Amino acid sequence: MPTDTDAQETTTTAPAMGGVTPMMEQYIEIKAANPDSLLFYRMGDFYELFFDDAEKASQALGIVLTRRGKHQGHDIPMCGVPVHAADDYLQKLIAQGFRVAVCEQIEDPAEAKKRGSKSVVRRDVVRLVTPGTITEDKLLAPSESSFLMALGRVKGSGAAGNPGSFALAWIDISTGAFRVAETTAERLLADIFRVDPRELIVAEPVFHDPELRPVFDVLGRVANPQPPSLFDSASATGRIARFFEVATPDSFGTFSRAELSAISGAIAYVEKTQKAERPPLSRPEREESGSTLFIDPATRANLELLRTLSGSREGSLFKAIDRTVTGGGGRLLADRLMAPLTDPAAIAARLDSVSFFRAETRLCQGLRASLKSVADMPRSLSRLALNRGGPRDLGALRAGFEAAGAIAELFATTTLPAELAAALAAIKALPEAFARHLSEALDDELPLIKRDGGFVRSGYHAELDEMRALRDESRKVIAELERSLIEETGIRSLKIRHNNVLGYYIEVSANHHGVMTGSDAAKARFIHRQTMANAMRFTTTELAELESKIANAADRALSIELAAFDRLTAEVVSEADSIRAGAEALAVLDVSSALALLSESEGWCRPAVDASLAFEISGGRHPVVEQALRRSGEGPFVANDCDLSPEGGAKAGAIWLLTGPNMGGKSTFLRQNALIAILAQTGSFVPAEGARIGVVDRLFSRVGASDDLARGRSTFMVEMVETAAILNQAGERALVILDEIGRGTATFDGLSIAWAAVEYLHEKNRCRAIFATHFHEMTALAGKLPRLSNVTMRVKEWEGDVVFLHEVGKGAADRSYGVQVARLAGLPEAVVARAKEVLHQLEDGEVSGKTNRLVDDLPLFSVAVKREAPKPAKNDALGEALGAINPDEMTPREALEALYRLKGLATKQ
Ligand code: ATP
Repeated sequence: MPTDTDAQETTTTAPAMGGVTPMMEQYIEIKAANPDSLLFYRMGDFYELFFDDAEKASQALGIVLTRRGKHQGHDIPMCGVPVHAADDYLQKLIAQGFRVAVCEQIEDPAEAKKRGSKSVVRRDVVRLVTPGTITEDKLLAPSESSFLMALGRVKGSGAAGNPGSFALAWIDISTGAFRVAETTAERLLADIFRVDPRELIVAEPVFHDPELRPVFDVLGRVANPQPPSLFDSASATGRIARFFEVATPDSFGTFSRAELSAISGAIAYVEKTQKAERPPLSRPEREESGSTLFIDPATRANLELLRTLSGSREGSLFKAIDRTVTGGGGRLLADRLMAPLTDPAAIAARLDSVSFFRAETRLCQGLRASLKSVADMPRSLSRLALNRGGPRDLGALRAGFEAAGAIAELFATTTLPAELAAALAAIKALPEAFARHLSEALDDELPLIKRDGGFVRSGYHAELDEMRALRDESRKVIAELERSLIEETGIRSLKIRHNNVLGYYIEVSANHHGVMTGSDAAKARFIHRQTMANAMRFTTTELAELESKIANAADRALSIELAAFDRLTAEVVSEADSIRAGAEALAVLDVSSALALLSESEGWCRPAVDASLAFEISGGRHPVVEQALRRSGEGPFVANDCDLSPEGGAKAGAIWLLTGPNMGGKSTFLRQNALIAILAQTGSFVPAEGARIGVVDRLFSRVGASDDLARGRSTFMVEMVETAAILNQAGERALVILDEIGRGTATFDGLSIAWAAVEYLHEKNRCRAIFATHFHEMTALAGKLPRLSNVTMRVKEWEGDVVFLHEVGKGAADRSYGVQVARLAGLPEAVVARAKEVLHQLEDGEVSGKTNRLVDDLPLFSVAVKREAPKPAKNDALGEALGAINPDEMTPREALEALYRLKGLATKQ
């Protein structure tokens, strides 16, 4: 790519037409073709932005906005970023939702000059950088996939209830992964969230369809409308065949029209953004519907699988369980966590791999030592194929091949479970000859960019060695020449230097100019090139000859290196399928061994996942809360059982109605059981002493409350929409986790809704469920609904304070201890005291039906504060409690409880 700035290219040269300079004319034309993107317009070593683009970019990047020339009488706003730092700026812009069109000089400025002194260097957009199509390492997180997704729709009859059929295709162009699945209007958002794409492209008419509006509103700027021609299912087969260079894509499988439309959209968008380059995509692989656990968007967000509700990875389930050591392994683990399986046999196959590494600790350690040197092969492969690769990408492949060889040897004599055996076969199938080529050709230390050479190993190419020797030899000769010139002229400060404009030149300080130009002989020998403020520059015939010899040798050496680079790259691309398969296999080994290590260090067990409706967890824990408590030293996590299995031959799961105090651990318990189901079906061991789970096909949870004001929904409305989705969709294989339904409205309304929802779950959905509530009245339902049991979070009360035991036991809580928790939270004493009185009166009122007395009889704060009972002297209460303790007779638990009681007493006074 030519990089020299074309000297006469300026916005200020004489306008060619209507006040527009030729360069501006070119700019305006290219910008008009890319109205939705910021245009990075290459000028020499900078990408320049003009007009609105400049204003937007300078604000988004915090860079200076300047002016350059005039357009139609007005200054042209301009800003620029240096080409060598462009990745950093691109990253910032992409993160802020911009798309960028990168416009390069596509001819040498010297060529342009030949057309006339005022001609403009040809430029064109070589790539559109969008959130879903980036490949640069700097712009990608190692263990996060970067999916571009396309939505295909084949229109239905248009009648209500027949919105047509839908499919989603998603590609990670940084790794080549390509998958497709059918979906429905109802599942659409859930399926999009499962993949979590960075960009979703949609045909404009679909984007503007009012029925689908809510989906795109939720997705915000992730959704990107595109011309419908990209999605044309009729021409899709041709497009797919052309892209994969096959006569027909029939051998890839049979795709529905909606799937073809989605695949076509994805490919067309890749072509549109990558222009001439083609990423090495794998053939679209179809995901059968129902093969993965359906998790609706709200549940996915609330369970904080990959990210917390605030968007950070820290605190997510992924972060708590990720022990992988390669980028590919991290991505595979995240993919699996987002799409747990529903086929018990497939789940067992993954669990077998984890069990294998649990048992084979020595092998596991050896494997992980080798995996640490595996670089990101698929990403390097993609960059090389897209012509954006460098020597280190080839180096990454070499490192991968070497590690793969070592790993294959490690497992040579071991009998492996099916999943690992298949992985090993793919690793062994990596092309050995090619691995050798890379090792022979590449130096140990590799530069980042290929432009300057220096990456081919000496001894690899005879002529290259010769040219390098000549080049290096000549450099020595230059040094000698410098020495002899110093002797000849007597100027000790004389230097032979080099720059890109003059090439090699002799430089002396200005006060020595007499020596160089004082006589005719000197003038003939030292040819004047340049006069600077303090120095003069000369050359000699000898130096010029030497220079051309060096330049030729260096040029030749470089061109040999670049040819070797191209040859190796072509070989990489031709082996793309086997490299990708080998890299996926390494990722499988990484994930299985990482999960084995995790289960060992955290004390997790292998779950039994079968086709029953069982849900039997003994000693279950919350993986994230447990680790957080350990880190903060706040004491051990209390394990709890959960059994929702059908009883006595019933064909429906049980419902647990969970009551208990605020802060008692209800939400933690609810979530931990959902997470255990997800982990088990992901093929991981689980944080429990034992677990038997009849495969769950849909997981729903309603936990936590949030407004969705952007869509005009109040907290209560959101809660009801989510509850409706659950009651309408959960079947007998579902697992439902509901937390505090009905809290966002008046007590009686809320209670009635919660009551009816539990009845509906029991009678209609007939699924396994845990329902946490503060409506203690609901515990009466246990007398009426045979599969419903009351459970409660146990607490102890001590001197008016509440001690949380975090234990789930049979039975019902009689109260929520809300006032005590409010006190712990630091509500003013007066408010707490007043609340206690109100509570008493309310409880009395409820029993006697005289609630109105509240308003009339209760004293105001001032009185309440005055009426507070005097506290017993600190030492008395503490001393009494201490005296009652006999440490020799206490169990560890009783000792702990006593400690809490004492602490309660001490802080109270
Ligand atoms: P609220 O009704 O106010 O929402 P909650 O009953 O849902 O409260 P959680 O939010 O689940 O309570 O738990 C409160 C805190 O108690 C947690 O942040 C955690 O620190 C601790 N906790 C919960 N469960 C356990 C447990 N099993 N073992 C130890 N600590 C726990």
